[in-house]
Amino acid sequence: MDWFRRMMAGRYGVDQLSNAMILLSIVLLIISSLIGSSIINMLAMIMLILSYGRVFSKNINKRREENMRFLRWWSPISIKLMQYINRIKGYRTYRYFKCSGCGQTLRVPRGKGRVHITCPKCKNEFTKNT
Ligand SMILES: [Zn+2]
Repeated sequence: MDWFRRMMAGRYGVDQLSNAMILLSIVLLIISSLIGSSIINMLAMIMLILSYGRVFSKNINKRREENMRFLRWWSPISIKLMQYINRIKGYRTYRYFKCSGCGQTLRVPRGKGRVHITCPKCKNEFTKNT
């Protein structure tokens, strides 16, 4: 891999933004082939070229700044997404209630009958069927 290291010397390399762009372009490629859209296909190609442009870029500071901006935008979305995925995963084992006091989502095991719930955030108490 010596040639690779030499080629990558002084270049930025892969970061989260490049990975996201490559992933998105692959998704776009799949969509474009499914619906036969040449515009989406072109968008995917442009996205792919741009992401590789970033990987081989020598303007490291600028690329790093782009990635920071991307992460600032993406982090809250990814947290929400993970919460959503965990909720789908836990659907069979847990029931979710919204606290009427503060709006906090509370997770309770399923099939326990009527349970008395105390919100850990605002100490609001209520009874629910699980
Ligand atoms: Zn509460």
